[in-house]
Amino acid sequence: MNTILFALGSLQDEIDRVYALDVDAFRDCINALSLTDLVFLWKAVGHEALGRRLSEEIDPEVVSQVLERLPYSTKAESLKYMSNEQRLLVVETWSLQKNHDELRKLGNWQRSQEIEWHLGIADRYIKSSRLPMDRCASCGNCYDYWQSIDILDCMRHSSCEACLQEDGVCLHCDPSFG
Ligand SMILES: [Zn+2]
Ligand SMILES: [Zn+2]
Repeated sequence: MNTILFALGSLQDEIDRVYALDVDAFRDCINALSLTDLVFLWKAVGHEALGRRLSEEIDPEVVSQVLERLPYSTKAESLKYMSNEQRLLVVETWSLQKNHDELRKLGNWQRSQEIEWHLGIADRYIKSSRLPMDRCASCGNCYDYWQSIDILDCMRHSSCEACLQEDGVCLHCDPSFG
């Protein structure tokens, strides 16, 4: 039984329950929601890990439809923090024109956010237009459009998703890694 809609008033227990479901049960639970209710849930969730499940374990076509109905900042945050794999699948559901438009909008949004961050550098960027760091400090690969760029703790280097250490530590700048 999908009780999630009844629980949105006092959400935390229900969020914890849904968060603990395995992938199939989670998908069943989400698939039972209408698009409107899914959008409502997506907006209501301040729970980071559940937000990640929402963006990563649902059909990219559905994610794309939900994103269209979110306020822009929620949409941009969702795109920013989902995995590269899921983000690229979502982008593939768009036309080339929409892809360009969304990339430009995201680039503008990222620039507008910088003032909120220490030294004016965000924790993560999505490769859009010109950015201060164009390649991963570990593997040396240049970033492709729509790939995530994680800024490391030294604030001078960045990492691709594959090379990222859990705590965002920079292996170049941290002497304990020799
Ligand atoms: Zn790398
Ligand atoms: Zn560094």
